[in-house]
Amino acid sequence: MSQTHARKVERFATDEARVDWHSAALLALRDKRDRQAKSLPDWEQMRETASRMKLHVLSHLPELLQQFAGNCEANGMVVHWARDAEEHNGIVARILAERGKKKLVKSKSMLTEEVHLVPYLEAQGIECIETDLGERILQLRREPPSHIVVPAIHLKKEEIGALFHEKIGTRAGASDPTYLTHAARESMRQDFLSADAAMTGVNMAIASEGAFVVCTNEGNADMGTHLPDLHIAVMGMEKIVPDNASAALIMRMLARNATGQPSTSYNSIFGAPRPGAELHLVIVDNGRSRRLADRRHAEIYKCIRCGACINTCPVYRRGGGHSYAYFIPGPIGLAIAGDNPKASSDAWACTLNGSCNNVCPVKVPLRETIAYHREQLAQQKQLPYGKNVYMPLVGRIFGSERRLSLAMAAIRLGLRVLPRGLHRHLGGGWGKSRDFPRPPKQSFADWYRENRGH
Ligand code: SF4
Repeated sequence: MSQTHARKVERFATDEARVDWHSAALLALRDKRDRQAKSLPDWEQMRETASRMKLHVLSHLPELLQQFAGNCEANGMVVHWARDAEEHNGIVARILAERGKKKLVKSKSMLTEEVHLVPYLEAQGIECIETDLGERILQLRREPPSHIVVPAIHLKKEEIGALFHEKIGTRAGASDPTYLTHAARESMRQDFLSADAAMTGVNMAIASEGAFVVCTNEGNADMGTHLPDLHIAVMGMEKIVPDNASAALIMRMLARNATGQPSTSYNSIFGAPRPGAELHLVIVDNGRSRRLADRRHAEIYKCIRCGACINTCPVYRRGGGHSYAYFIPGPIGLAIAGDNPKASSDAWACTLNGSCNNVCPVKVPLRETIAYHREQLAQQKQLPYGKNVYMPLVGRIFGSERRLSLAMAAIRLGLRVLPRGLHRHLGGGWGKSRDFPRPPKQSFADWYRENRGH
């Protein structure tokens, strides 16, 4: 049986120094995002407009997809439709096999993680090279991303130095980021030159134009697609925006919200294949239609994958991205996959504090969706054993003022007389890295009665 979220966090939390800098690095991203948001006086209006635009997209998805696909084909692209992961991977493999392609350079795409494309192609003898630096580091470590925007955020530079020394021959003990980045660039350059096909994801698919936007900070998507005569782009069907103005709005918000930059460094719009080259586009469903049919789950597909909800989440920051069962961690991962019994322990990896809602540029109701999944799991009798026992009890206690006040008095007494640290042995991973505060002498209600006289 796979480990619960709490057990995996327990492992991550054994390295306290790592937990501290991981959390600090993500908070720094959050701070930069806040500064960018505050620098635009119309930021809140932009959020509202972007949210409404994405709601419009979700409620007109079939028409917009047809319009987009028709315009892409008119522009010379070949459009493919994939119902699920298997169909998607089969389409990509067939395109490559029919043209005798053996080496694919790919830029970052969470969709290819979702459908497990790389292992599938490798099993068919296709060499796949990740060209985003963070993704390349993880590929060399044979490890999944721990974040959707900064996939190797959990690694120290010394660990990357040791990896590069072993895999690409950098100096032993070197950990200078500039040196390591130059070495990675040098090694990847050979891959760009020898690849015979390129793959990118899609940040926005513009229905009115039959064109799509790819945003990177490293220029690797552009490097990859400029040389080979075959470009395959893959996208989840929710990536549609109606027109150029909508794409421009998302572009203004995406990098600001993701990394606190005014814009990603490279924003390329692909509108047609290069002369003599082919451009294929695979549009994927893979469960999206089913989730969209559920009104309380549908709004997750407004998401533009900026990662801000992950950066601000206190559970993610101190638990790490590899603690989640679903390949997307943090609030948006819980909101997408929370109805999946295989990820049921993840649904509890949330304090429902709502910080994620506050930073989301398209107002995805993350907290409400996660709470909804908890309801679903309870109805499906998927609650963890302990919760089945104590939640009805907690419900009874909260249902009566007298019972609540007695329970609180018992807890205050327990915290005073029981040995400190006992909670660490009571099961679950969370207590192991936490201390209870010293209990106050009296309850708030008693204090209020005494001091306010009611
Ligand atoms: S849910 Fe919102 S904040 Fe989270 S990744 Fe998506 S767009 Fe960004």
